[in-house]
Amino acid sequence: MKIVKHIANLGYGSRKQVASMFREGRVTDAQGEVLYADDPVDHDNIRVDGEPLDPPPGLLILLHKPVGYTCSTKDPGRIIYDLLPPRFRLRSPLLSPVGRLDRNTSGMLLMTDDGALLHRIVSPKSKLAKVYEATLAQDLRGDEAALFASGTLMLESEQTPLAPAGLEAIDARHARLTLTEGRYHQVRRMFAAVGNHVEALHRSRIGGLELGDLPAGRWRELDEADLRNLF
Ligand code: URA
Repeated sequence: MKIVKHIANLGYGSRKQVASMFREGRVTDAQGEVLYADDPVDHDNIRVDGEPLDPPPGLLILLHKPVGYTCSTKDPGRIIYDLLPPRFRLRSPLLSPVGRLDRNTSGMLLMTDDGALLHRIVSPKSKLAKVYEATLAQDLRGDEAALFASGTLMLESEQTPLAPAGLEAIDARHARLTLTEGRYHQVRRMFAAVGNHVEALHRSRIGGLELGDLPAGRWRELDEADLRNLF
């Protein structure tokens, strides 16, 4: 691939716009030598206006999604891409959320432009645990843990029972739920099925990777060690 396409794919502009950045001498190597649009790509050695390039394709990030943002590119309201550098929503391939969180759910959201990795994380075969902290409108009845663990719970308008899920009561109105699948609004619908209502929901862990103390609205790039923790 030529550098002009590589840089355009990272969201710096259309191919035409990036070509003119080359003509203006804004694209250089690390020593400040001007590069040309059809030079070969040496990602780490490229500078635009003296700045290193954004991360190359194969990007995996962890975002602490706040309540009030949707996992969408189009929603007229606030969207997760508003929390990332503007170029990140213009990348090709697109940086996509790995599974979704509802607008009213906060917590750990992974995003990647690597289709194979995305598939590996969401695939039911991976059985990656997802841990949610739920705040409930009613006290727990006491039989929810056994029911959720049974593998027999059917959600309304679904054909197959839910896989066994773990429920740990923290107190009467707070529970930690561990799921290995990701059906639509699953946690909210599970509690609705036992006559309760989820008032607040937060995802704290995926696989062996914790959200930790990353503040709401902030993101970080994941490295090899994080990836090993994840699987
Ligand atoms: N379950 C839900 O109900 N909502 C989410 O966002 C995630 C899991």
